[in-house]
Amino acid sequence: MHKHTRFAPDRRRLLGAGLALGSLSLAGCASMGSGPSIGRVVIVGGGFGGATAARYLKMWGGNVDVTLVERNAQFVSCPISNYVIGGHAGMERITRGYDGLKALGVKVVQGEVTAVDAAGKKVRLAGGGELAYDRLILSPGVDFMTEGTPGLQAALDSGRVLHSWKAGPQTAALRKQLEAMPDGGVFAMAIPKVPYRCPPGPYERACMVASYLKQFKPKSKVLVLDANPEIQSKKALFERAFQQHYAGILEYRANNELKEVAAHGSHAVAKLEFDDVKADVLNVIPPQRGGDLARSAGLLNMNARWAGVNWLTMESTAAPGVHVLGDATMSAPAMPKSGHMANQHAKVAAAAIIQLLKGEPVNATPVVMNTCYSFVTRTDVVHVASVHQYDATDKTFKTVPGSGGVSAAANQIEGRYALSWADNIWADMLAA
Ligand SMILES: Cc1cc2nc3c(=O)[nH]c(=O)nc-3n(C[C@H](O)[C@H](O)[C@H](O)COP(=O)(O)OP(=O)(O)OC[C@H]3O[C@@H](n4cnc5c(N)ncnc54)[C@H](O)[C@@H]3O)c2cc1C
Repeated sequence: MHKHTRFAPDRRRLLGAGLALGSLSLAGCASMGSGPSIGRVVIVGGGFGGATAARYLKMWGGNVDVTLVERNAQFVSCPISNYVIGGHAGMERITRGYDGLKALGVKVVQGEVTAVDAAGKKVRLAGGGELAYDRLILSPGVDFMTEGTPGLQAALDSGRVLHSWKAGPQTAALRKQLEAMPDGGVFAMAIPKVPYRCPPGPYERACMVASYLKQFKPKSKVLVLDANPEIQSKKALFERAFQQHYAGILEYRANNELKEVAAHGSHAVAKLEFDDVKADVLNVIPPQRGGDLARSAGLLNMNARWAGVNWLTMESTAAPGVHVLGDATMSAPAMPKSGHMANQHAKVAAAAIIQLLKGEPVNATPVVMNTCYSFVTRTDVVHVASVHQYDATDKTFKTVPGSGGVSAAANQIEGRYALSWADNIWADMLAA
């Protein structure tokens, strides 16, 4: 077929697309112009949820004042961080700046929000300043529950034991520990009971560490101590990878909950119910809850662990005017705590907040989706995908039957897709 005819725009299709985009896209056009502000939105947390919300409020919202407060100078991605830990890429591959959001007119403030005054509609900054808002978005991610595991907090504080479950200095430090580990050493990893952020993440990490040790320190061992009764995501695919690529190096132990962390000479010791594991490198992924700020703001009203939200708006069920996104929320059934899902939460919230600020009804039928890729070798990847539709009767998202799925087998094409997915979602959230 002739190139020109193939890509010639179809007037009816273009018109249809315009109508489908509806009032939000028209408001997006207006954002380039002037006119009074429709409101002030403060966002805390420049990760997957918060950065995406900032961008989409600006794109869809016309004249919305958007301020994003993030404690770190740069965004460092958890997705692909296991690949870095495996030595297959450097930290620069997963690090991005906030200039794209600034260019869109988002006020980016590097700082720490220490308190939320929901009644007074303002947040307090560590330096003493305050930011007033009409709507507040919190996407603070997770913080760790170390109190149930004696010795763990002290081991984390000393830097001897790393979690590397927030990307950044801990990612680089775990890579260094692996490089310093002797051939013949033991790398042990403790996985908490669900729910935790990124269900397949620990098993991907086990594969990435094993891929490095297999090539450079083949006498070493990877011990995966899982508090759960079985692998929590893409089970058959990870089992196959463990067997096919890492037999003799990687040992997976189900129902092995970490009870205590101790030290023995230069080794860290993971104390389990029935035995102790002496490790050259001990990587503990602690149990998690919604981030500290959501807790101090009184938003963790589900099992004192996660934030309950109205799924049509992502507004907290504990504090009016405060919207919570991402990992900190009490997940809907079968909804993963993932960067992709936080990005989707942000789009639901951005659209709803614009409509609330304008006094318009919010979308009553949102649909969100998730795809999560995991590297099992340097080149081969597996995915899991799902689509979640709002159910008005039960007021929650439910998976659409038959919509998702997993890879038939690990493959190299998905290896390329995984890296492209990351580049694309970083561009989507950071406008860069
Ligand atoms: C090893 C690993 C691999 C992963 N792989 C994938 C993957 O392949 N695909 C996928 O979709 N997901 C993946 N995830 C999960 C993904 O990283 C999280 O689900 C996602 O980061 C959640 O987004 P969030 O906005 O809730 O939190 P985050 O992205 O963690 O953002 C929270 C931000 O808030 C900031 N913050 C918190 N409190 C304050 C405060 N008081 N003041 C100022 N700033 C504050 C933090 O500095 C942080 O930048 C992975 C996670 C891990 C650990």
